Amino acid sequence: SFHKSKGQHILKNPLLVDTIVQKSGIKSTDIILEIGPGTGNLTEKLLNAGKSVIAVELDPRMVLELQRRFQGSSYANRLKVIQGDVLKTDLPYFDICVANIPYQISSPLTFKLLNHQPAFRCAVIMFQREFAMRLVAQPGDNLYCRLSANTQLRARVSHLLKVGKNNFRPPPKVDSSVVRIEPRKPAPDTNLVREYDGLMRICFNRKNKTLGSLFRQKTVLSMMEKNYKTLQALQQVLGNTEVGTVDNLDFGGAEEDLKMETDDGDDEMELEDGGGEGSEFKDKVLSVLKEGDFEEKRSSKLTQQEFLYLLSLFNKAGIHFS
Ligand code: SAM
Repeated sequence: SFHKSKGQHILKNPLLVDTIVQKSGIKSTDIILEIGPGTGNLTEKLLNAGKSVIAVELDPRMVLELQRRFQGSSYANRLKVIQGDVLKTDLPYFDICVANIPYQISSPLTFKLLNHQPAFRCAVIMFQREFAMRLVAQPGDNLYCRLSANTQLRARVSHLLKVGKNNFRPPPKVDSSVVRIEPRKPAPDTNLVREYDGLMRICFNRKNKTLGSLFRQKTVLSMMEKNYKTLQALQQVLGNTEVGTVDNLDFGGAEEDLKMETDDGDDEMELEDGGGEGSEFKDKVLSVLKEGDFEEKRSSKLTQQEFLYLLSLFNKAGIHFS
């Protein structure tokens, strides 16, 4: 009677539930957010450990079962159940989030939590193993990707526990892992978060290519140049340098148009690796890479500090990614 589509795999191993609760470091004063409580196996232990639990559950049948389970007990007035899709729910204040979630919402849920204000202390969440390994992956690891970089800009993440599929009923097809996510405090500026993601989109499009060849791609350059020009125009209208941090504006209007036409001619060569004539904008981009010695580097090996440095060099040249 469980819904596969809702990711309803119930945790059946009570020792494992205990371990998760222990590793969460819940304080007796904590307001706990649980997502997808299901029949309440984890909920009960969370109620034992903390002050109160707010549980968001999509399936009305599960909500009923949960209420029946705790009705009339001393737990009842410390449990609040919200029926709905957690992705569409305004989350209330909480200190800590502990959850065995349906895996199909892993990515949007992670970012919803990272965007939540005020920031909570930590989230301890069961994910599909591969997603978990992506979250915690470091430069040089196989699974290091845009998700790793974006998440780690905003939070410290650590792998807590491997969980085999046979701890669930019915068992899912994949293994799982519990991960701890601790938002950085203070949270990085929202502008930086957006720009960093814009840069990561490009850098991890082909993480094993050199940045030199990534940033020579026609599609990348024209997208960046479009942003650049929009920003320049905006700055002209505003008549100051409040938008971004522009150093030299050495683009002439007419000349620019000419250059763009020449560029359209050698599409294929551009894709290969910077054959033909470079445009002024392309030179600007490549000189940024040179300045930081990034041309021969590959995203698969770059640290957060290096990406942030690269972003600052682009910004210094008036180039933005959001
Ligand atoms: N936490 C329980 C346990 O460990 O035994 C059940 C976990 S089960 C993997 C996922 C639960 O999330 C199910 O009860 C399912 O109905 C619920 N669910 C699925 N999609 C949801 C959503 N978008 N928002 C809130 N709950 C959801």
